[in-house]
Amino acid sequence: MSSRLIEHLLGDLRLLGYSVAGEESVVACPELNVCFDVGKAPSEILPIDYVLLTHGHMDHAAGIAYYLSQRNFVGNAPGCVVALAAWSIRSRPCCRFGGRIEGRVTPAKIIGLSPNEDFELRRGLIARTFEINHGVPSLGYAVVDVRHKLKAEFAEKSGPELVAIKKQGVEIQHRVEVPLVAYCGDTAEGAWMENPVVRDAKVLILECTFFEPDHVSRARAGFHLHVRDVARILSKMKNEHIVLSHVTRRTGIRDAKRMLSKLLPEQSMARVRFLMDARLARTEREARENNASTARHAEQNSSGQSEEVKEGHRNK
Ligand SMILES: [Zn+2]
Repeated sequence: MSSRLIEHLLGDLRLLGYSVAGEESVVACPELNVCFDVGKAPSEILPIDYVLLTHGHMDHAAGIAYYLSQRNFVGNAPGCVVALAAWSIRSRPCCRFGGRIEGRVTPAKIIGLSPNEDFELRRGLIARTFEINHGVPSLGYAVVDVRHKLKAEFAEKSGPELVAIKKQGVEIQHRVEVPLVAYCGDTAEGAWMENPVVRDAKVLILECTFFEPDHVSRARAGFHLHVRDVARILSKMKNEHIVLSHVTRRTGIRDAKRMLSKLLPEQSMARVRFLMDARLARTEREARENNASTARHAEQNSSGQSEEVKEGHRNK
């Protein structure tokens, strides 16, 4: 069965998602073992251990009970849902309700966090929360790679010297944080725009719900972003890749791109894509497959030639 999720490869980060306003939003980063929002819990996200839920609107959260139940059904470890603390308390009866329908309790981990908290996904990888502005309890997330590097002043020291310095209680390493991907869920403009983990993330996933000039007031009423807001916001963002999500059904991707490109300089537009741009995703996938096949042939040819050379030497 072909997947309705759309795959984008951005540097070494793979996104797999589906996002249409009011219908469903789910964006997985399989290699980071996280899924931003759960949508209707498509089967592709079931192996992922962490769902980072932004808020409780059903187009983002409906699949929670199914995600937890299916993981249990296929024998995976209990799924972990991270959400705003207030929401996580409210959601527990909902998860239990799912269990009551099934007639058994589904094992689950529900973690409640506040803005500006870190949650360890695995050693060296954290999810950092930040406040977004959606008019309901909600939370944005950045996945941050955390490394400890030797301080520059100790770079010339030998191993035994470093051990000796450490024994004196001197901190020889410093912490380096690299924000890999930030997801803002549904949001209007707000303090999140100044947050370094959002501004500097390699990949920023940002909503862009409305496009028509007379829909600015709708965007304001629903705490969403209009394409004019997005154009203004992106001029301050340093991300290598920007992925726009949550476009309404009434705006086709081709029109959305056309309208955004009128507001953004060409250079800035080059780093922006729409999550639901299936045509772009397909073209890029085919190019990757062609490159891989060309590389395979080249490798086979060169190993064939080296076999011939060896054969030639033996025959001399
Ligand atoms: Zn919402």
